[in-house]
Amino acid sequence: MIVGSLPKPEWLAPPRQLRAPWLLEGDTLLAGQDDATTIAVHQQELAGMMIVTDGEQRRQHYISHFCQGLAAFDYSRLVEKTTRGGKYPARVPTIVDKVRWTEPVLLRDLAYTISQTSWPVKITIPGPMTIADTAYAEAYQDDAELIMDLAAAVNEEAKALAQLHPGVIQIDEPAFNAEPEKAREIGLPALNRAVQDVTVATAVHICYGYGTEIVLNWKKANTSWDQYQQLLPLLAESSVAILSLEFAAPKLDPAVLQLAGSKRIAFGCVDVSPDPAEPVDIVADRLRAALKYVPPERLFPSTDCGMAPLDRQLAVAKMRVLGQAAALVGNELG
Ligand code: ZN
Repeated sequence: MIVGSLPKPEWLAPPRQLRAPWLLEGDTLLAGQDDATTIAVHQQELAGMMIVTDGEQRRQHYISHFCQGLAAFDYSRLVEKTTRGGKYPARVPTIVDKVRWTEPVLLRDLAYTISQTSWPVKITIPGPMTIADTAYAEAYQDDAELIMDLAAAVNEEAKALAQLHPGVIQIDEPAFNAEPEKAREIGLPALNRAVQDVTVATAVHICYGYGTEIVLNWKKANTSWDQYQQLLPLLAESSVAILSLEFAAPKLDPAVLQLAGSKRIAFGCVDVSPDPAEPVDIVADRLRAALKYVPPERLFPSTDCGMAPLDRQLAVAKMRVLGQAAALVGNELG
């Protein structure tokens, strides 16, 4: 499976940029998003994915799409903030009131995706710590209080989505890798709260970010890659079933997966940078290396992260390599 997002068709939004404006409006926009979702689902099926997403074709951004549906987020008041542990400047919305969940935000998106495929569907929701990191919280004195209120909202959403029986509900928490200590203190209790009483398989995605220039430059300069060593022993005790992790781009040793207990692993083995798709043999070798530490019934071959900012043909090529490598190694295992 892929992590979540795919590029949008160029008739729906300008390619190769995050938060790109819509090129359609009103009912035509809704119909266009439906069609783009159908295409994204079929692209995944053709590439051999066995759990599919909506490619996040309705989302200008993976965080704002959900937060715009919650009371309290004012996207007309954007504030400059340095996010992800001081790494990236961003213009973030203002939280003007206590966070409340009032009605499902992603239910129609999920119902439509389920109607387009016979494979299990995965739906993604941004995680409480990552949302809080990507907002200016005018209405809160205490970060922990905000994060727990967000966790309660994510939990209401996840329980509503679970009624449609998706294969996986995934919480996206890239902020965990940016601030592992805060993840231990606040992020993990919030994650457990977010998946409480959710009756379908839950996942958490923790990565080093998109294949965009600012992130690629950070990855090139970064020298400390021990975040999973800190986080996996804690996540092993968490309530989520699946850990979605990035191994390809940072060339991490999968031996760290010994710290993940008996969790299922969505193993990022395809890099999502704008570089050409890697050869199938290289991706297959990464899977073989991971199989030394995780048995095949617990290993889900995956991309490193979302592919929204990539060229569309390139994203398809990367998915195909993922599907081919998974099939090759799967055949070896009989
Ligand atoms: Zn990611």
